[in-house]
Amino acid sequence: MGEKKHPSGTPSCCCCPEPSVIYQQHSHRHLCSTHFIRDVEERVVQGIENNAMIRPKDRIAVALSGGKDSTALLLLLAHQLKRWRDVSLVAVTVDEGIEGYRNETIKAAGQVAEKVGVEHHIISFQDLFGDSLDILLKGREEQACTVCGILRKKALSEAAKKNGATKIATGHNLDDEAQSVLMNVLRGDLMRLVRDSAADTSDCFLPRIKPLAEIPEKEIASYLFIKGMFLLLPECPYTRFALRGDVRSVLSGLEHRNPGTMLRLMESKKTIGKYLAGSSVSDPLRRCRQCGDPCSGDTCQVCRLRQSLGR
Ligand code: SF4
Ligand code: ZN
Repeated sequence: MGEKKHPSGTPSCCCCPEPSVIYQQHSHRHLCSTHFIRDVEERVVQGIENNAMIRPKDRIAVALSGGKDSTALLLLLAHQLKRWRDVSLVAVTVDEGIEGYRNETIKAAGQVAEKVGVEHHIISFQDLFGDSLDILLKGREEQACTVCGILRKKALSEAAKKNGATKIATGHNLDDEAQSVLMNVLRGDLMRLVRDSAADTSDCFLPRIKPLAEIPEKEIASYLFIKGMFLLLPECPYTRFALRGDVRSVLSGLEHRNPGTMLRLMESKKTIGKYLAGSSVSDPLRRCRQCGDPCSGDTCQVCRLRQSLGR
């Protein structure tokens, strides 16, 4: 059957006579802006409900970098908040101290938090670890994303706890999640693959939730664009060292030629997680000998990293 055409010549929305603004590859549907926004919001809410991510009385710290994923996450949670009883939000931004990049995204984060009326707090590497990321990385720039990722996780936990949060919500989208699965498999890191599968735990004190984990990156960008909230921001100068780049381009090529690849990868992760739960690769978390934070070995990643950085 041929697709319906709007008088303008573009395909019509599958739910109404309006012209479509997006073709959703995974559902094979054309959608207008109203139905697309509704569809994204419903899928996010459904994902939250199905995975019991939010419970009554939760105070959720939204990790708000100011980039598109975290902006979409905050908008969405703030708009849908009345669905959940006695749940509150607080936005937390980590200032790693990256010259020529972070200042602009912090400004954008402040604006979006103000727009949706959510309290906003900033925590910096300088205050927490004594130096900015730029200084910590001198001479080891190629390790930027590893160092940044470990310290940012710790900073987020600290800020969330300080602000009375019961959970941390991050803006990881389907592309990010699928890339992580593939990276863990390629590294042979089944332990992390299993650990990431456990919805409510990670190597931090507070449970983490990822409400956008089933939404493709392209749809998040379109969501913000339609809402008039899409901003072009500078890119982190260390992106060029990110290993993720190769995996990203392989996966997006595969997704383009075989729509649904990323969703199927996420299904595989769940299945592997189920089979390996309780086996020796999914050892329970222990406590770090130095700081007491939960970790998988004797010493947590942050303490090991601080030692290797001579701090
Ligand atoms: Fe940190 Fe790497 Fe992301 Fe830059 S690209 S913010 S260094 S994780
Ligand atoms: Zn429509």
